[in-house]
Amino acid sequence: MAIIASNFKTNHTRKTTKEFIQTVNSYLEENKIENEVIVFPTSSSLDNFNTVCNLTIGAQNAYAVNSGSFTGEIGTQQLDEFNIKTILIGHSERRHILGETQEEIALKYEFYKDLGYKIVYCIGEPLEVKQEGLQATLEYIYEQFVGIDTNYENLILAYEPVWAIGTGVTATNDDIKNVHNAIKEKINKPLLYGGSVKVENVAEICAIPNVDGALIGTASWIKEDFIQIIENTKDL
Ligand code: PEP
Repeated sequence: MAIIASNFKTNHTRKTTKEFIQTVNSYLEENKIENEVIVFPTSSSLDNFNTVCNLTIGAQNAYAVNSGSFTGEIGTQQLDEFNIKTILIGHSERRHILGETQEEIALKYEFYKDLGYKIVYCIGEPLEVKQEGLQATLEYIYEQFVGIDTNYENLILAYEPVWAIGTGVTATNDDIKNVHNAIKEKINKPLLYGGSVKVENVAEICAIPNVDGALIGTASWIKEDFIQIIENTKDL
């Protein structure tokens, strides 16, 4: 069963997030869809959503703390209010735009692992590394596992090449196959692909061996499109 996740990034309001989640929830319920679906809204749109068991709401980010003086951040005190037990860690926008280091990411990972959170952990190489070939790409990706307990039972991985995120350029099936096969050989965890997945290509990508689903940004933000994405992968 494919795992389909939507990363809202900095999009949607409380009102439209609620509408989105309610619509997706009704669709899953009415059609008895079995995909595991995860939605990562903005922190300001987290709430107590009444969802079916295969629709999970996660945090795009949180600090490795319960509460404290970390201006602009949220911790588990805020997540607990909404019973959030799923978190995205290592997204390339946090690594490359917000400047999170591997050391900080590993500390965050350890903190949320100790609390039993489901962690969707992102890895992926920038364009200049991809251009050096598969070996360089894999070496770069393996560095992103430094300090990360890959045996953690509640871990989902997401391979997201930086050059494919939000660019409209999806990795080729061969690119995806090569990287996924290599990662799976080392780490036997569910492995999603992310990077310009669209309504039109999600089924083909999710059907590649060793692809267990997709993490989707841009193409998932319109609720009808997200439902179509789930519809296109429901039988995989
Ligand atoms: C993402 O942000 O995780 C992502 C894959 O974005 P997009 O689908 O827009 O490339």
